[in-house]
Amino acid sequence: MPRPKYCRRVGCVPDRNYFKPRGIPASLLEEVVLTLDEFEAIRLADFEGLYQEKGAGKMNISRQTFGRIIETAHKKIADVLINGKALKIEGGEVSIEEMRRLRCPRCNKVYDSAPASEGASVCPNCRRQ
Ligand SMILES: [Zn+2]
Repeated sequence: MPRPKYCRRVGCVPDRNYFKPRGIPASLLEEVVLTLDEFEAIRLADFEGLYQEKGAGKMNISRQTFGRIIETAHKKIADVLINGKALKIEGGEVSIEEMRRLRCPRCNKVYDSAPASEGASVCPNCRRQ
């Protein structure tokens, strides 16, 4: 049965999209792919600490779907950490919001922020608001 297509909003695209254990060539590693919607759910729930209901609203999906995405994402990340796999972030059923490019006045880090995100955006490097 084909899954219905949702338009999931993703407000932030990671600038580093590949992680692997040090000292092991990527060709020898098993790779786990985290989709952009899974990445975004992790960012909203675990990094920004939003309640699932609020995170779901930001991604334009139901709370149940958000919860399911988070669960899948946690399992993938656990698999990477515990089994020493590589993690790649790409793809998924998402639409990427138009980005604003910002420079952090404290640490000078340049990062992308979605215009839809409420209030000040947080620097991913030093967490300045
Ligand atoms: Zn900063």
